Amino acid sequence: MSPCDIERNIVSAFPTRNILFLWGPRMLDKEITYCKNVGSRRADILRKELGVDTAAELLEVYPYKYIDRSRFYYIHEIEDEDTYVQIKGEILEYHAMGIGKAQRMSAMFSDGQSQIELVWFKGIQYLKLQTGVPYLLFGKPSRFNRTYNFVHPELTPMDKVTPQMVSGLEPYYNTTERMKNAGLNSKALRVIMAGLMPDVERGLPETLQADILQRYHLMSRTEAMQQIHFPRDTRSMQKARERLKFEELFYNQLSILGRASARRQKTDGFVMSVVGRHFNYFYKNLLPFPLTNAQKRVIKEIHADMKSGKQMNRLLQGDVGSGKTLVALMVALLVIDNGYQACIMAPTEILANQHLATLQKFLKGSDVRVELLTGSTTKKQRAELLPALERGEIDLLIGTHALIEDTVQFANVGLVIVDEQHRFGVAQRAKLWSKNIRPPHVLVMTATPIPRTLAMTVYGDLQVSVIDELPPGRKPIQTYHYSNLRRKSINEFITKQVDMGRQVYVVYPLIQENEELDLADLENGYNTLVQTFPNYRISMVHGKMKAADKEAHMQRFVSGETQILVATTVIEVGVNVPNASVMIVEDAQRFGLSQLHQLRGRVGRGADQSYCVLLTPPQMSADTRKRMEIMTATNDGFRIAEADLELRGPGDLDGTMQSGMALDFKIANLATDGQLLQIAREAANSVLDDDPELSTAYTQVYRDNLAKFKSAVVEYREIS
Ligand code: ADP
Ligand code: MG
Repeated sequence: MSPCDIERNIVSAFPTRNILFLWGPRMLDKEITYCKNVGSRRADILRKELGVDTAAELLEVYPYKYIDRSRFYYIHEIEDEDTYVQIKGEILEYHAMGIGKAQRMSAMFSDGQSQIELVWFKGIQYLKLQTGVPYLLFGKPSRFNRTYNFVHPELTPMDKVTPQMVSGLEPYYNTTERMKNAGLNSKALRVIMAGLMPDVERGLPETLQADILQRYHLMSRTEAMQQIHFPRDTRSMQKARERLKFEELFYNQLSILGRASARRQKTDGFVMSVVGRHFNYFYKNLLPFPLTNAQKRVIKEIHADMKSGKQMNRLLQGDVGSGKTLVALMVALLVIDNGYQACIMAPTEILANQHLATLQKFLKGSDVRVELLTGSTTKKQRAELLPALERGEIDLLIGTHALIEDTVQFANVGLVIVDEQHRFGVAQRAKLWSKNIRPPHVLVMTATPIPRTLAMTVYGDLQVSVIDELPPGRKPIQTYHYSNLRRKSINEFITKQVDMGRQVYVVYPLIQENEELDLADLENGYNTLVQTFPNYRISMVHGKMKAADKEAHMQRFVSGETQILVATTVIEVGVNVPNASVMIVEDAQRFGLSQLHQLRGRVGRGADQSYCVLLTPPQMSADTRKRMEIMTATNDGFRIAEADLELRGPGDLDGTMQSGMALDFKIANLATDGQLLQIAREAANSVLDDDPELSTAYTQVYRDNLAKFKSAVVEYREIS
């Protein structure tokens, strides 16, 4: 039984209290079926399509845009395709063209000064056009060649236009196909919302205390709800949106910060206070180059965390090539010096192998024992490795997800380093935790910067370290965007680079839904390259190959035996071939910005000038064009991440998608509301400073509403 049912039962049991009981704000607790203009059939659809059960929830379905119906346009003022306009005028003449299905109606509309064509393709039999009668035309112009016209405009005879129709901002609501089929279009929603307004007017329960409303100049909830649906003017609409966004962000922060502080008090961590033999020996004798200042700083930050007595949960962000591997090694040495084991988990076998090779090279001359465990580790090797691990003889274990099999038992794992976190699923990482009673410190390394707003809202209890400096001597990668028809110049470019002794990546998209086709693309590409460059040796790797073949091909490229590597995104993360100086991305329009940036990071790792060439078909969407422009304009991973967030929306980012979190803010937008988020955070902090447990009468309202706003707050340790 839902609370509503209970309430209804009570109401019918005490009929005399009926009015009293339903009076006031609680009116909005009623189920949508009982809202004006809804009824049970529409309620069903609204429930399924919008996920709303009560009138109060329906109110939180906000307009996605408004159209200013107080303004009338002249035809000559039309200047773009996406803005609705209304124009007063009359039809000069009209005629039907074509026959049967191909029929269309064309009319010439005049505002007294100029003329524009109106076109209908559908429902022509219902059109009742009249010449010489004043009409109000309402619609979105489309551009056809160089002139504008209106396709399926709304025409209302002037004498049928009511004052309400043409006053103020008209709200528009998103609707689904199923809603539209049931007559629940934007206009119908508008009517339903209007029916809720008398209840709103009686006053909604306030969710923010007066001091916060005052300090941040926020509207009351009641006024905001009125103004967001039926704004008086643009300014009120903006104030209303701001208030509702603030509320969402404030509760998000209250929840995240509250839990983070609770957790900080709770979870003990291993204390890594010693800086000992292994670390010092490495630093003095083995370090092949001076650390960058950024590397020094983050090592200090990580060490401070690990000796604090609390368990560390830290994200290490550093652009591709910024030297995260070395940082990982050095903090692992600290852990080993304190008598614990460390492990590094990589997303692919290729990467795990490469980490092993890199670290062994770094550690040459040290007595730290490093081992590798992947899916390819043989039974015999395991039989030797696993007991040694359990006896604590292995200091540093590198591997893939094979590390989290049940048979793998550490003696005492003190630090888990996860490389390139966005490649891991949630469940996989959750397993790592269960290996200890006391959780190890966790360091997650990523080259995909998580925009600050996202880090603040999703990964609330996560500390972030940033390597914001590349090792010296790197030349910035030059990025170009070409039409994929320009094969000849691209091939000439490849020839020039290979003849200079460099190596080249050619990457094809591989998207699961469509794997067969993509694979065919890749193989065609490979064959064409083999024909075009008979004198070069070419490797190919893709996800469908056997691990051993993949490894062999990869190795041939790494060792310089092959000059060109044709690959799918298998190589996206972490592969380090300093001699490779060209990255060619085929069908670049099919990659997201972060992915493109990752791919580009495979070159520019040596001292040579490196290049990234993005190929797309000559015709492309506005969105693709934008992405290509950003890529050619900047190498800055943070700027790219912000742009990515803007273009795709936060719910779509790799990290959040793969960890299955939906950032379903109803109105706040992390891409654009960073500043408001900062303010909401400050407000939440001030509340928690005074009352960390939210236990006083004053914060009762916050305690009561936390659950309601608990949209997508995920504690980092839960997904690690
Ligand atoms: P990423 O952060 O992308 O994982 P890597 O750790 O693979 O980057 O480092 C990229 C390259 O830079 C490696 O060849 C590494 O040896 C080198 N490198 C790392 N730190 C420094 C440094 N302080 N000075 C010079 N080269 C460095
Ligand atoms: Mg790396």
